[in-house]
Amino acid sequence: MFMTERTGGSDVGAIETTARREGDHWLLNGLKWFCSNVDARAIATLARPEGAPPGVKGLALFLVPHTRRDGTPNGIHVRRIKDKLGTRVVPTGEVDFVDCEGYLLAGSDDPEAAYDGRGINRMMEMVDTSRLGVATMGLGIMRRAFLEAAIYAARRVAFGQRIWEYAPVQETLVRMAVEVEAALALVLEAAQAGTMTGYGERLYRVLVPLAKMRATRRGVELAVQAVETIGGNGYIEDWPTARILRDAQCHTLWEGTENIICLDVLRAARKEQAHEALLDRIDAALAAAGHLPEAEVVRRERLAAERAFRYVLAAQPREAQLKLRRAVEYLADVTQAALLLEAAAWQRDTDGSERGRVVARIFARERLQQPVARGIEDGDVTVLRHFEDIVCYRRVAEG
Ligand SMILES: Cc1cc2nc3c(=O)[nH]c(=O)nc-3n(C[C@H](O)[C@H](O)[C@H](O)COP(=O)(O)OP(=O)(O)OC[C@H]3O[C@@H](n4cnc5c(N)ncnc54)[C@H](O)[C@@H]3O)c2cc1C
Repeated sequence: MFMTERTGGSDVGAIETTARREGDHWLLNGLKWFCSNVDARAIATLARPEGAPPGVKGLALFLVPHTRRDGTPNGIHVRRIKDKLGTRVVPTGEVDFVDCEGYLLAGSDDPEAAYDGRGINRMMEMVDTSRLGVATMGLGIMRRAFLEAAIYAARRVAFGQRIWEYAPVQETLVRMAVEVEAALALVLEAAQAGTMTGYGERLYRVLVPLAKMRATRRGVELAVQAVETIGGNGYIEDWPTARILRDAQCHTLWEGTENIICLDVLRAARKEQAHEALLDRIDAALAAAGHLPEAEVVRRERLAAERAFRYVLAAQPREAQLKLRRAVEYLADVTQAALLLEAAAWQRDTDGSERGRVVARIFARERLQQPVARGIEDGDVTVLRHFEDIVCYRRVAEG
């Protein structure tokens, strides 16, 4: 998928690549600035057909094969391979299209379909799928970072004790495990919505950006925590954590930066009322978890998050811009907490374990409650009491 140009990855409407009709195909000319999997056999790309208006509405979607129909190489010239911070196993290049043979992807052979203003929508269908893929990458990074940190801490000895006996290390590992489970719940929920129609499509529309934003950001955070839990060795290339940290940083960027992802949530809310589908899903999860005492705080925060999001929807553009990210993060927090509670209720009813409840309680406390004096004086030591239950995935008899 070669979309980004020098003029910008977020501002897709600024694309300068042109497309000229030539018999039954098109000739594309322009410079694509970020092209991962640069030697792909087939490329989906956006270009502006001759005479089309400026902005996103003037763009059309094309398929560019690696070779022309006569078997000769297509006009795809790799200027250079970029020297990247991470994701080095996937080469990313700068590519010139020079009279590059392309085929219109518009569901019709009529060349006029190139001017129907829907090229960007067709591309976004693919982007939604790849955003879910990137969310999964963030999740994978989280889980690997947690495992590397936990396994190392279980063996490393300092001051005569394994470091995982120390309370601060226990707190770090518990927080990591809880975040992995909260992100997993969100990503799987998005994937599940992708298999549904009607209401599920609106849910998918909002869950994919939420999952992408949340899992990739936490991926970076957990990668940092893994490096620090391992200590100096974590910073050295002999251990996997240095690479994990470099790779993690890419996922918050490609397929849309966090700000752009938040704008996408806003668009989904304005155009498709996708937030209403999300609120319904949160309510269903909370109804399933209604008998758990932890549901009360999440129910209260769900109402506040809805109010805050509606405020942003109605706010003046500058204020809406300023507060959008906070509102979207709030929605993500509430969604994750509700899904964790739903899973906790299921776990309790299925095998009698209270582990899910403890996980949901820690998550809600971290992300939704603001305890007085940061909770230092409240005597709560849940993370120490349940350290091995959570980090070693044990059954919990009493929450
Ligand atoms: C390793 C790597 C591989 C990549 N591979 C591909 C690829 O294969 N195909 C492809 O098409 N692209 C690819 N990209 C490009 C990637 O999708 C873009 O870098 C990304 O979308 C951001 O675009 P940009 O770099 O032009 O930054 P800009 O769009 O210039 O954004 C810079 C900053 O401004 C902020 N910003 C921009 N507009 C707004 C706004 N309206 N409101 C608030 N903030 C805003 C952004 O959030 C960001 O923080 C790749 C990038 C990387 C790093």
